[in-house]
Amino acid sequence: MGVVGGSIAGCAMAVAGARAGAEVTVYERSAGELRGRGLGIVLPPSLHGELTAVGYLDAAMPTVPVATRVWVTRAAGSRSAREFARQSGPVTACNWGLLWQALRRSAGSSPAVRYHRGHPVVSVGRAEGGRAVVRTEGGAEEYDVVVGADGHRSLTRGLLAPDLRPSPAGYAVWRGTLPMSALTGHRRPLELLRESWVTLGFRGGHGIFYLIPRGDTEGDGERDHLLAYAVYARPCGPGAPDVAYVRRIAEQHFPAEWAEIVARGEHTAMTCHPVTDLHAPVAADPPFLLAGDAAGVTRPHTASGAVKALQDALCLERSLRASASPAEALGRYARERTPEGARLVELGRRIGRAQVERTPEGARLVELGRRIGRAQVERTPDWDALDQAGVEEWCRATLAGTTSYLYGDEGGG
Ligand SMILES: Cc1cc2nc3c(=O)[nH]c(=O)nc-3n(C[C@H](O)[C@H](O)[C@H](O)COP(=O)(O)OP(=O)(O)OC[C@H]3O[C@@H](n4cnc5c(N)ncnc54)[C@H](O)[C@@H]3O)c2cc1C
Repeated sequence: MGVVGGSIAGCAMAVAGARAGAEVTVYERSAGELRGRGLGIVLPPSLHGELTAVGYLDAAMPTVPVATRVWVTRAAGSRSAREFARQSGPVTACNWGLLWQALRRSAGSSPAVRYHRGHPVVSVGRAEGGRAVVRTEGGAEEYDVVVGADGHRSLTRGLLAPDLRPSPAGYAVWRGTLPMSALTGHRRPLELLRESWVTLGFRGGHGIFYLIPRGDTEGDGERDHLLAYAVYARPCGPGAPDVAYVRRIAEQHFPAEWAEIVARGEHTAMTCHPVTDLHAPVAADPPFLLAGDAAGVTRPHTASGAVKALQDALCLERSLRASASPAEALGRYARERTPEGARLVELGRRIGRAQVERTPEGARLVELGRRIGRAQVERTPDWDALDQAGVEEWCRATLAGTTSYLYGDEGGG
């Protein structure tokens, strides 16, 4: 099996292939360590537990598990914080770099996996006889299966869906981390973050805050944590990774103590991504298979990019074990993963846009959606008018019958 891309999806697929008995070669374009790309990542605790139990992840990988989601906004007519809802929302928060390293080590510990870094793939195609060919500057190799784990600009996806283009959502996400010293003197935010992840609603967007392991220290005390954030808003310009813009949003819209936290400290590993939707119409067409962002990009509101890549890997392992041939395995994989990718893209659209669809609850929820606003970003609700019951109804309307672990449904992807 050949794997194009050696990031989260690529390493996880290599582990899956090796566990199911394949010889695996991974081609990764970057020559160095992959660090800090995604900054903070949250996983459903059940998925983290499963990956640890079966050996994809090392139980020693530091994480920050929390059980609750807390909703906060700036109180009307003041600069103080108003906590307006609290929900069950168990997540296992990870550092992207540590997650990648754990998967990389797991792949590296198998004698069946060869991982080539600094090896960009220049083309992928079909050989005579139906096998797949991977070409690098060093030459060409043939495989029974080639996994495209080459990210949102996947070259491999071009074979399965040549005309597919991402659809921009019209807003962006600024992600970064802050040292724990930014929380010094802010007792209430620190208390909240010790037990929960925080959604901070403001006019024109929202922010997500949670603690993650630092990644450059060994311990699991608070000094070994970072405060991770993702702020969703419309870009003021071309969407550069601009700390000043995030600080300006915070200063204008956040409760004073949260604005001070964002104003403080060095923002490490700052990025800005335009938010897009992308979904390959088919996740596999033998001998090719897509995994992770190559198969589809969901809006980050679903916190499902890495989750999906890891679930793709578990599905590949199951499919290979249950099938008599690689083609049969890829057929199983496509039947399971294509609709799941579509579901997550649609869920991300709804959370971002919160278009209230007709559900069995019908007109009442549609009306609720109108009343409290259509979005967490594009048309934000009147956060100040929301309370516990309003948030719960709004979440049900947004989910429209589907599930998400972020909304307290552990089974949801
Ligand atoms: C704001 C935000 C928040 C997020 N939060 C979460 C979260 O909480 N939980 C979650 O699960 N996910 C989250 N994600 C998503 C997650 O970070 C990504 O989905 C995940 O890292 C994708 O992994 P991947 O391996 O598919 O792709 P990538 O990490 O993009 O890796 C692709 C790899 O392929 C390599 N490559 C590309 N082309 C070639 C080539 N031609 N030859 C060789 N190598 C090549 C690249 O160098 C790269 O290493 C978030 C994303 C964003 C933007």
